[in-house]
Order: sequence, then C-alpha cells, then structure tokens
Amino acid sequence: MVQAPGPESGDVSIFEQSCAYCGARLRVLAVRVPDENRTQDYSCPECGKSYETEAAAEPQVRLVKARSDGKDDRYQETLF
Ligand SMILES: [Zn+2]
Repeated sequence: MVQAPGPESGDVSIFEQSCAYCGARLRVLAVRVPDENRTQDYSCPECGKSYETEAAAEPQVRLVKARSDGKDDRYQETLF
C-alpha cells in the first residue's frame, strides 16, 4: 500500500457503529500506526457509553444519526 509521506504516517481507519445502549449511529475515526497502537477509549456523544478500539491516538467520534431510543438519560458506567 502506498502512502503519502508526512509527519504522521499511519492508516486512518474510519468505521461506523451503532451505540449498543441508545442506538445512535457513530462514525469513529482512528489513526492506526504499527507498534504504537494501544487501547483507546471513546464514548458515545449521545449517552456517554464508552467503547474501546486499538489506535495510536484518541479516536474522534462524530454523530451520524441521533439516538433512537427516545430517551435522554446517560449510560450508567458504574453500578452499585
Ligand atoms: Zn449511546
């Protein structure tokens, strides 16, 4: 694969997913660099549920479609 030379060599990976909690459609942009990838957190902009992906830097999340569950609560990360 041929890449344009630049200070940030690496593959930009863009994928879409639906939030498992609220149903919002997310587009996630992650830069992947061999040997520099590690587990990165990102969260759903609508409900705050967090996800993880392998990337070299913090992923950027765009909202493609608003949540579909008709609620406006936040995902509860911690259960007591
Ligand atoms: Zn969500």
